[in-house]
Amino acid sequence: MFDKEYDVIVVGGGHAGAEATAAAANMGSRTLLVTMNLQTIGQMSCNPAMGGIAKGQIVREIDALGGYSGIITDRSAIQFKMLNKSKGPAMWSPRAQNDRMRFAEEWRLALENTPNADFYQDMVSGILILGDRVVGVRTSLGIEIRSKAVVLTNGTFLNGLIHIGEKQFGGGRAGEKAATGITEQLVGLGFDSGRMKTGTPPRVDGRSLDYSKMIPQPGDEKPEKFSYLNTPVLKTQRDCHMTHTSALVHDLLREGFDRSPMFNGRIKSLGPRYCPSIEDKINRFTDKDSHQIFVEPEGWDTVEVYVNGFSTSLPEDVQYRALKSVRGFEHVKFFRPGYAIEYDYFPPTQLKHTLETKLVNNLYFAGQINGTTGYEEAASQGLMAGINAHLKINEKEPFVLKRDEAYIGVLIDDLITKGTEEPYRMFTSRAEYRTLLRQDNADLRLTPRGFEIGLAKEERMRRMEEKLDKSEKFVDFFKKTSFDPEEINPILESVDSATVRQSDKLFKVFSRPKVTMDHMLQLNEVSGYVSENDLDAEVMEQAEILVKYSGYIEKEKNNADKLHRLENVRIPDHFDYSQLKSLSFEAREKLESIRPVTISQASRISGVSPADISVLLVYLGR
Ligand code: FAD
Repeated sequence: MFDKEYDVIVVGGGHAGAEATAAAANMGSRTLLVTMNLQTIGQMSCNPAMGGIAKGQIVREIDALGGYSGIITDRSAIQFKMLNKSKGPAMWSPRAQNDRMRFAEEWRLALENTPNADFYQDMVSGILILGDRVVGVRTSLGIEIRSKAVVLTNGTFLNGLIHIGEKQFGGGRAGEKAATGITEQLVGLGFDSGRMKTGTPPRVDGRSLDYSKMIPQPGDEKPEKFSYLNTPVLKTQRDCHMTHTSALVHDLLREGFDRSPMFNGRIKSLGPRYCPSIEDKINRFTDKDSHQIFVEPEGWDTVEVYVNGFSTSLPEDVQYRALKSVRGFEHVKFFRPGYAIEYDYFPPTQLKHTLETKLVNNLYFAGQINGTTGYEEAASQGLMAGINAHLKINEKEPFVLKRDEAYIGVLIDDLITKGTEEPYRMFTSRAEYRTLLRQDNADLRLTPRGFEIGLAKEERMRRMEEKLDKSEKFVDFFKKTSFDPEEINPILESVDSATVRQSDKLFKVFSRPKVTMDHMLQLNEVSGYVSENDLDAEVMEQAEILVKYSGYIEKEKNNADKLHRLENVRIPDHFDYSQLKSLSFEAREKLESIRPVTISQASRISGVSPADISVLLVYLGR
């Protein structure tokens, strides 16, 4: 049945697995995706939305490198918002509401249209090993399939256990079987594993809701999109709605607390801190008698609705009674109750920067299996694992993104250097160089890197080069062009009333905080330049950011350069830390287990102090 050997086998068709398959296959590896259910490729297990704060930046980075998540999101979006638009551009974060069914369908079609990608539906129950290397997988039907590399992206499925009130049953997601065999085998090989938990709210029938009692949450008036390619921009959008819980709702929920698996000790593992269940919120924030609920449509045509903010594993009768007391939900009909799920993960300090395991060569882990939460975090790891699996079997240099190059670099470096004991999600605050890692410039940062390794195609590169060229020339135009105070003062008066007396370059006025591109476009010279050079909104936005934030950007680039100096001090592969007696005991233990590749990485390990770094630097002759 499988007489040929594949280059790469990807196990699991969630967000990580789908990106890993696309990346490896697009780079030229003969790739097989083995997943438990071919109907659920790219399935959104929880909320029907992509992006958001820091996550939106990740989706744009995936797109810039040549991944598919941005394209799929644009093709299946029903609403688009640029979050944090009132803050500086480092905080702007794109977010789309998606049609859940179309999202999964678009993923399936995109992969079917990817040359070199094959598919097989089965549960992988173990990996095949020869010496210190993985050589394929074994499925629950006993079939052995050979490959040069394997990427595991099992998500929430490994020994998944679903909880609803006092009921618990095995499952990887509602209505789907758990995956067994893999954890036990890997632990037998010497891997550490742990348990984590996550939860999801009930889904309800939109026809049973009274939207007139809720506050509409429309999308942006001028919606943008994720992909830097020519994907569709939304012409119409669907509204979300907002409502609130109340003291009565909280009382009704509390009635079920003694039957809650969260509180009666059945759920032992840690859940996502920043995505707490409603019972957790009531318990933790006792002074609040109201929490927001976002009512999100699940698609263009379906009546199913996602109740964002009401994630719960309380008994279904308690969920129902409490939700009925929420404004607008008085006649609610349930499609499915909320639930929590516990699953196995593998502490990610067992991985290299390429996401290859340290213990077994050519075996890669990506996504929720590494202790992360979120589609975007999973997808980006899948992309990087797929790329690196392809590069490794072709004996090419690994592909690693630095912390000042991409959120993806921050994510992976955090995971493998610091590990995580609770589900890890990305935040802008995790990135020390967030002024550099903006959503608007992911293509400028990463498309050349994606092109170099053969993933991003010619068209991406050409678009990126055109945007770069046009925006740099536009900035030069502002630097060179003088203005007439009489022409500009009426505009300035309307902005900050601080007028100018003598002519200077436009760059200087444009740098003022309250002066925007719209103000500049009121000047004939600027609007003339824009139409002569056919500049689009993206180029204008890029030029505006480069003018207004040039000082901050330069400063961060300098800081990043300093870090690179430490990044260049490499620690030999099998360095013997036991010989350095002046290292603290904790530092020695952590360094021995994580085995950082550079001094810079060593400095980010918790428990390794600046004094320990000095000891290392002295020993390494620096
Ligand atoms: P998944 O999307 O879980 O995909 C795993 C895939 O692997 C599936 O297709 C499965 O069939 C397949 N598979 C697994 N094992 C095998 C095997 N042995 N053989 C073959 N195929 C296999 N994220 C948030 O950011 N916020 C939340 O609030 C949130 N809540 C969640 C609530 C629930 C109930 C669940 C289930 C998930 C939730 N998530 C949440 C997490 C989000 O769904 C995941 O982060 C994301 O889907 C992870 O992607 P992944 O590709 O790693 O795994």
